[in-house]
Amino acid sequence: MLTGHPQNPADRRPIILTGDRTTGPLHLGHYVGSLKNRVALQESREQFLLLADAQALTDNAHDPEKVRRNVLEVALDYLAVGIDPQKSAICVQSLLPALSELTLLYLNFVTVARLERNPTVKEEIRLRGFERDIPAGFLCYPVAQAADITAFKATLVPVGEDQAPMIEQSNEIVRRINRQAGHEVLPECRALIPNMGRLPGVDGKAKMSKSQGNAIALSAAPEEISAAVRQMYTDPDHLRASDPGMVEGNVVFAYLDAFDEDRSGLEDLKAHYRRGGLGDMVVKRRLEDILQNLLRPIRERRAQLAKDPGYVLSILKAGTEKARARTETTLAEVRAALGLFQF
Ligand code: ATP
Ligand code: MG
Repeated sequence: MLTGHPQNPADRRPIILTGDRTTGPLHLGHYVGSLKNRVALQESREQFLLLADAQALTDNAHDPEKVRRNVLEVALDYLAVGIDPQKSAICVQSLLPALSELTLLYLNFVTVARLERNPTVKEEIRLRGFERDIPAGFLCYPVAQAADITAFKATLVPVGEDQAPMIEQSNEIVRRINRQAGHEVLPECRALIPNMGRLPGVDGKAKMSKSQGNAIALSAAPEEISAAVRQMYTDPDHLRASDPGMVEGNVVFAYLDAFDEDRSGLEDLKAHYRRGGLGDMVVKRRLEDILQNLLRPIRERRAQLAKDPGYVLSILKAGTEKARARTETTLAEVRAALGLFQF
């Protein structure tokens, strides 16, 4: 049972806010980490999906064209996996000025030391080789995320496990603002994190990520899916089919854990692999079949939608307008609660 703070008397459903950086097409990590939850939740909740182009700029200021182009690509991915624009508002972050204004206010409620301690940001700085030259916007992006979440008064945020520290940081800011205001202006939120944790990259690295070039896109062609599965690492000591093999740390099994719905069949397969007598090719073939069957309808639907960009743009426009009204109301409330000057 999901619970949340009521937003207003007319609509007591918890509001859901999530988003994706527009840095590239979405991949299988997004699917298991977040998209699946979003598609299920839109049936019963009010949901906003943010195309996070402003956040994408925090580490892509050298390539704004990539960030712009991927707004449409990510929107296509949403629609292809089953996001229904009648039920979920899809909006463009940089076209919502209230988010920037809230970010600027919230920056006064967080310390630089706290920003530097965020474990996900720390890991991302390391992965991007930013140690010496961190863009200020990048270090502060968790504050911008707090603005995103609170501007919609979202109480439920379906995200991958890497985002848990962002939710914590957002709630800290909310508590400070509420304390300063002397009453609850903003609700706290909670993350909805899938049990499986994060999906590793096809290269075995801890996280499949658009920026790391280790992803299988939801729009991948059948040959790309085959090639990615073929190249996946298994157990390096499993040289002959007759050798006993390790399931833990084996990328192919990590994917089967995430995508194979035949759980008892998978347990038998793991036992056989551990015992020996099961070749990597057999395990990879099973994974490939599962992924091909999952991605085929998504790819086909996406190709259909891509033929009509005008339709997709009209969806984004309507979603952004709805979001603009909502976020401006919250901004006005926060300004008033903090006692800022008003004419
Ligand atoms: P980038 O490399 O540009 O940061 P990304 O691949 O990390 O892109 P984001 O747009 O940062 O994707 O993430 C969007 C959402 O998808 C977040 O909720 C994140 O937790 C989830 N997500 C991304 N990658 C994974 C993954 N490998 N496993 C589980 N969830 C993921
Ligand atoms: Mg990311």
